[in-house]
Amino acid sequence: MRANPQCSAPFDYREGQLIRTHRGAEGSGEVKHFWLCGACARRYFLEYRRGEGMLLMPRPTGRNFRPGNGHGVAA
Ligand SMILES: [Zn+2]
Repeated sequence: MRANPQCSAPFDYREGQLIRTHRGAEGSGEVKHFWLCGACARRYFLEYRRGEGMLLMPRPTGRNFRPGNGHGVAA
């Protein structure tokens, strides 16, 4: 499935970001695919949250963004 419903790019697994998640009970075999096109992958990232599912998150802006820099987040 397309992670960004507003995206109209044709599906191309060679580009962007394809994420496969296993959901439901272990061994149920249920697998969901989420895909971001190249342009979306540069603007967003996907984060899986238990109970909420896959969320489309905007990437922090700025080229010099460093995770954990000044935000108290341990890498
Ligand atoms: Zn897109």
